[in-house]
Amino acid sequence: AVPLVVSVSTSISAEKGILIRNREAFERAKDVDVVVFDKTGTLTEGKFEVTDVIPLDELGEEEILKYAAALESHSSHPIAQGVVEKARELGLKPYDVDESKVIPGKGVQGVINGREVLVVSPGFLKENGLWKEDERVNRVLEQGKTVIFLVVDGKLAGAMALADRIRPESREAVKRLHEMGIRAYMLTGDNAKVAKWVAEELGLDGFFAEVLPHQKSEKVKELQEQGYTVAMVGDGINDAPALIQADVGIAIGAGTDVAIESADIILVKNDPRDVITAIHLARATYRKMV
Ligand code: ADP
Ligand code: MG
Repeated sequence: AVPLVVSVSTSISAEKGILIRNREAFERAKDVDVVVFDKTGTLTEGKFEVTDVIPLDELGEEEILKYAAALESHSSHPIAQGVVEKARELGLKPYDVDESKVIPGKGVQGVINGREVLVVSPGFLKENGLWKEDERVNRVLEQGKTVIFLVVDGKLAGAMALADRIRPESREAVKRLHEMGIRAYMLTGDNAKVAKWVAEELGLDGFFAEVLPHQKSEKVKELQEQGYTVAMVGDGINDAPALIQADVGIAIGAGTDVAIESADIILVKNDPRDVITAIHLARATYRKMV
């Protein structure tokens, strides 16, 4: 049988938009001393806008967008939506794509007009020896932007910088966690400069950047091995293994189905401050019972 205090808390939490899927994990939430947040879509809004298109070879800005938007129309990543939207705004018609495939945590690849096309992360370029130092690219990276690259037939063709917004509620969430003696970390597949910028803006205790999807759960495990009770907060397919690994997996409600199914707690309102509400509620509930 479910103890009365617990069932009362469950309905109180539901009223606050906090859905508890796993009662044991909810109980562990009272002991959490580290909260790890995913960046995109969790601490930030996850709505990307293309702010700069930087040609790095023969293709002009419009052609770069036509290639990139063509591939991105086959991806559901928030970056992809930003690129497709930019092409639409400018009235550019994306090229037709013959084949396309997502490269998890790195980008997309496909064939356009018989050419091998990639839209990928800075990490992918470095791994494949395609990275070139460029002053304009460094400048947008320094501005804390997400930067992706177009590669056509193995040659670097251009860069696109995208800006996302930090959720205004994230700042208060981190502050309140600190007041409770809980550390706040961030985990992201995005570049280290954006991660550093967001971490400084929010006063985070630390961050892990350029983390590939399969490495996210390993980072959570490392923190657990250091003796921490870890809550992970995320929204994406990539976050699902980390949500499962964490002592308490928390999904943001607007997240993907996979994230929601992997979570112990769901925050219906997409407000990172509800992580604190959930911890308070767990503390109040299980304190009453002992
Ligand atoms: P996050 O941790 O922010 O959810 P992901 O693991 O989804 O990040 O992606 C990591 C990085 O891989 C992105 O910052 C981007 O550089 C690249 N990437 C992923 N998907 C795409 C895409 N559809 N188009 C371009 N780049 C992508
Ligand atoms: Mg995300």
